Amino acid sequence: MNEYVTVLRALEFAAERHSEQRRKDAAASPYVNHLIAVAHILAAAGSVNDSELLAAAALHDAVEDTGLTMAELAERFGPVIAGLVAEVTDDKSLPKAERKRLQEEHAPHLSARARQLKIADKISNLRDVTEHPPADWSFERRREYMHWCARVVNGCRGVNPGLDAAFDDVYRRAEAVFGGRG
Ligand code: NDP
Ligand code: ZN
Repeated sequence: MNEYVTVLRALEFAAERHSEQRRKDAAASPYVNHLIAVAHILAAAGSVNDSELLAAAALHDAVEDTGLTMAELAERFGPVIAGLVAEVTDDKSLPKAERKRLQEEHAPHLSARARQLKIADKISNLRDVTEHPPADWSFERRREYMHWCARVVNGCRGVNPGLDAAFDDVYRRAEAVFGGRG
């Protein structure tokens, strides 16, 4: 199958799976906007032309958020794409604080491809927290989120300099809004 088909089929499937879901910003943007943004960040800032990684970007929240099983994902998209999604999927049976702690702990042990996907996801989310934040989040919560993103991304650096630099840009903009240390 040609590689564009793989990526577009993944985006189409993700759009269907997340069709009822919205982002947490005040405008309740369609969730799929975030999936497109993550794939776009990989391709543009990261110069990624790896169709399996771009497809995994489109599908990265499908298991965590839509009740899709890893087996169903592997059946549709094969074990490589499903494996990449598995690497960036939290165990939802754990409490939230524990999941966030594990993301920090696991980041340096992810594959090179999954580390790039993780950074692109954090770029999209930190940009949203800065420019289109969840309506009910305090300034302090947004600031804490910024620091947590930086800790996870620090564990993922060194694979793709373009993505590392793109995160640093978004972080600098966040820091200008939320302030530095703390
Ligand atoms: P959540 O994990 O609940 O929300 C952040 C996630 O929501 C993002 O990682 C992103 O994930 C998704 N998302 C959807 N829309 C947006 C958007 N517009 N902007 C950014 N992200 C969006 O929140 P927290 O990271 O705060 O984690 C919860 C933790 O916060 C708990 O440990 C809890 O104890 C603590 N907490 C802190 C408070 C405080 O004031 N400091 C108050 C309450 C809880 P994805 O890419 O998967 O969509
Ligand atoms: Zn995401």
